[in-house]
Amino acid sequence: MDKKSWYRKIPKVDVLLETEEIQTAIEKWGKVPALDAIRRELEDIRNMIERRWEEGELLEALEHLPERIVERTRKLCSANLRPVINGTGTILHTNLGRSPIHPEAAEQAMKIVSSYSNLEYNLQNGNRGERYAHFEELLCRITGAEAAMAVNNNAAAVLLILSALGRGGETIVSRGELVEIGGKFRIPDVMEQSGSVLREVGCTNKTHYEDYEEAVNEETRLILKVHTSNYKIVGFAESVPAKELARLAAQTGIPLVEDLGSGVFVNLEEYGLPHEPTVQEAIKNGADLVCFSGDKLLGGPQAGIIVGKNIYIDQLKKHPLTRALRIDKYAAAVLEQCFLEYLNEERAVKHIPVLRMLTEPYEEVRKRAEYLEELLIKAGFPAKITLCDCMSQAGGGSFPAEEIPSCGVAIFPKEISVTVLEERLRQLPTPVIGRMFNESFLLDARTITEEQIPEIVTEIKQEQILNKTDGREA
Ligand SMILES: *Cc1c(COP(=O)(O)O)cnc(C)c1O
Repeated sequence: MDKKSWYRKIPKVDVLLETEEIQTAIEKWGKVPALDAIRRELEDIRNMIERRWEEGELLEALEHLPERIVERTRKLCSANLRPVINGTGTILHTNLGRSPIHPEAAEQAMKIVSSYSNLEYNLQNGNRGERYAHFEELLCRITGAEAAMAVNNNAAAVLLILSALGRGGETIVSRGELVEIGGKFRIPDVMEQSGSVLREVGCTNKTHYEDYEEAVNEETRLILKVHTSNYKIVGFAESVPAKELARLAAQTGIPLVEDLGSGVFVNLEEYGLPHEPTVQEAIKNGADLVCFSGDKLLGGPQAGIIVGKNIYIDQLKKHPLTRALRIDKYAAAVLEQCFLEYLNEERAVKHIPVLRMLTEPYEEVRKRAEYLEELLIKAGFPAKITLCDCMSQAGGGSFPAEEIPSCGVAIFPKEISVTVLEERLRQLPTPVIGRMFNESFLLDARTITEEQIPEIVTEIKQEQILNKTDGREA
């Protein structure tokens, strides 16, 4: 057929609008998105004609036009951001929203944001209040600090500290701590943004106390210690403990700032994990300011938390950047809930999802893996299903070299390749993300909840994704 005849086959917009499928779509989502979808689908067909697609394919595209328009309308009108099931075994998965929040905390926060609240209103005296006031005292009680505040994220916290206290002078940092932590956050670049001059000391592998001591001059505004959370230098390496730097800070009157990255309140060594410096320790060791993320090992919302001495926190609170970097009300509400959990450490470790996953014994994870294995086998999918020991990771730049013994289920599909399986699982209504492992697709049970297990199996069944042609293609 020539081009002209093909063009004549394209249905008119009015005709399409009258079809039953599209009428239903209009009732559900409205005429504007439906018209938009029609125009876009017709544009696709015209492109196919111009590019001389095969006759069979063109005919099929024309035949399924109304369904494709409905699907496109649905997509235009539904949110793209949605929950996913994390079967990767990486607990703090930066691409998957880092730390999941405890449902009760999220619920309480939802109540607050869907109503008016005392976010910046002091109920005692009826005056304007601070948005950190709700959790400042609590945070001081947990960490032992004099004062506290929170901003949008830890990157913002570092920028604020350097801008407010380091601008117009030098900030001393060890060459071994000039880290990049992904997402283009590099200490030297943040330093430049802040207007503080970076004064590098020591070498990549070794920095001594004297290196810091010799670098101090009239221009020095800050001593910054950065927790190198996402890599490890092994071998001939040395850095100066914060405690010693605190001594130098006290002698010279220059504030010591510690960027802990992934702040924790719980001594994880007690749960069989390697030592990760806690915020309490950093304060006790004499840091003047300590900053850390809300959504790494703390297990809360995205936030940058700053604790430390009154005189410095006061300066930060007054700085103009604070208004631009401030924490939003949803995060503030979740954060307060999260801190409340920490008043009882035992409860925190059970309640806060990140801590629960991190500290859960292998035997418990294995039980969940067995449950998933059992349901998958029962469903009779065309695949070999086996239990599989594996290694989980903390992720999010914490415990860089550490792996946690875990257990999962390996799926060996019989009718499709592992690559196709991975792609289809990713496109489920509730996407399931896992990893390829020795010719199989592996789901690590450490990061999957018990409730999600039947959900995974039902989704695979409904969409027939282990079959040669899946539910949507058939
Ligand atoms: C993760 C991290 C940051 C940035 O924290 P965000 O909350 O992601 O902005 C800053 N410094 C260090 C050392 C980190 O590990």
